[in-house]
Amino acid sequence: MNPELEDLYQQVLLDHSKRPRNFGALTDGAVQVHGDNPSCGDEIDLSVCFGPEGAVEDIRFTGQGCAICMASASMMTLKLKGRSRLEATALAEAFHTLITGGNAAPDRALGDLQVMEGVRKFPQRVKCAMLAWRAFDQALTIHESTDRPTTPP
Ligand code: ZN
Repeated sequence: MNPELEDLYQQVLLDHSKRPRNFGALTDGAVQVHGDNPSCGDEIDLSVCFGPEGAVEDIRFTGQGCAICMASASMMTLKLKGRSRLEATALAEAFHTLITGGNAAPDRALGDLQVMEGVRKFPQRVKCAMLAWRAFDQALTIHESTDRPTTPP
């Protein structure tokens, strides 16, 4: 990667870690998940409001962690908000591939999240980058186990 681009990526990361987007908690009917990464000291609380069919209606997080963890969580909420269940799951998979997937080309659907690609060179930081995404995955599972289809009248 050329140095200018790397510089730009660094700025995006720093910006998100210093001013995380969608920072806060949701209350009404939101699924709450706590995630931590003891090897680094990262902790986040994710709240997700699911709509019909498991669409991500709203998503917020709070917590404390390293720049990689916070930036990943911040960018994740921006990316997943308003997505259908299918889109959100596909993005989560694409992100996992991005930061662990050898030389696979980044999925363009990830947008700004592609700045996290450099994490794959630092295996111990992969957990930091994945923390919010693992929490989202857990939120989906919780939602699915509680979301009983309503019987038509
Ligand atoms: Zn970390």
